[in-house]
Amino acid sequence: MTTLSLITPSGRLTLGNLLGALRPMAAAAGPGSYYGVADLHALTTPHSPELLRTRVAEMRTLLLAAGLDAATLFVQSAVPAHRSLAYLLECVATSGELGRMIQFKEKGEVSSRASLFTYPALMAADILLYRAAEVPVGEDQRQHVELARDLALRFNRAYGEVFVVPRAVHPPAGARVMDLLTPTRKMSKSAGDEHPGSVFLLDPPDVVRRKVMRAVTDSDVGADAVRAEAAAKPGVTNLIDILVACGGSVAGLSTYGALKKAVVDAVVAELEPLQKRYRDLAADPAHVSAVYEDGAARCREVTAPVLAAAEAALGLL
Ligand code: AMP
Repeated sequence: MTTLSLITPSGRLTLGNLLGALRPMAAAAGPGSYYGVADLHALTTPHSPELLRTRVAEMRTLLLAAGLDAATLFVQSAVPAHRSLAYLLECVATSGELGRMIQFKEKGEVSSRASLFTYPALMAADILLYRAAEVPVGEDQRQHVELARDLALRFNRAYGEVFVVPRAVHPPAGARVMDLLTPTRKMSKSAGDEHPGSVFLLDPPDVVRRKVMRAVTDSDVGADAVRAEAAAKPGVTNLIDILVACGGSVAGLSTYGALKKAVVDAVVAELEPLQKRYRDLAADPAHVSAVYEDGAARCREVTAPVLAAAEAALGLL
């Protein structure tokens, strides 16, 4: 089965990305899995070219270190069909429907980059190029898949059957990791590289320790204080979820100090082998590049007929 998953290099990968996305992606990876670094999507807000290059390089290596090598790995900009089809889909989408997209409604202003308005067409292109029937996404991405579905249906009706009409599916939720300082908010790679509430995959053990030991808990000192209760104890619940997702257990833990120490040990043990693989891979950049060149070549091959069919249907060529 074909599945597509793209991650935007809008920041450094966090523990949330690992437990909520990379781990399940690694478990599901096969020859029909297309996993990409969505560098074009990182251009919709003001950006630094140098920082983008650094983040893409780190992310490419981290995806491999996280065990995604059974998938077809690629960087989006190395497959120009994404950009080409995006423009064709902009010619099918209406300004009304793009204006209703949540991201634009929340972040759009007169001075925003035009790409913040049009990027849902690029996302639709990402999906439609691979003829994926099902797109596994979280609830926050549902609107994008629905737009891809609407555009595919409209295109097929107007110009002939070119696209497989995709459907959003919601895989059983992986772990949802919350910010250590604001545990009512998701830990996000976009919160900034220095944000002390985020654990980054390449954080050394002492940094993990400092961040976890400063995590927000609450003032409960009861004998059963270490218990999960999402609404009343979001910080403690988050620490317990992280501990369990990293293979630990709360059995025998009665104080927040002991809980935090257990979380530090579990997270450090989870990250250690990944960081070791990262260092080995980073020492062999030619190998990493070769993996991504092969992946992009495969993507160019599978997407070319879809783009050509869309161009021909529109009267181009
Ligand atoms: P994002 O970092 O928001 O671009 O998301 C990339 C992938 O990581 C998506 O599959 C998200 O659902 C997942 N993800 C991001 N942050 C978290 C988090 N804090 N907990 C669990 N999964 C996350």
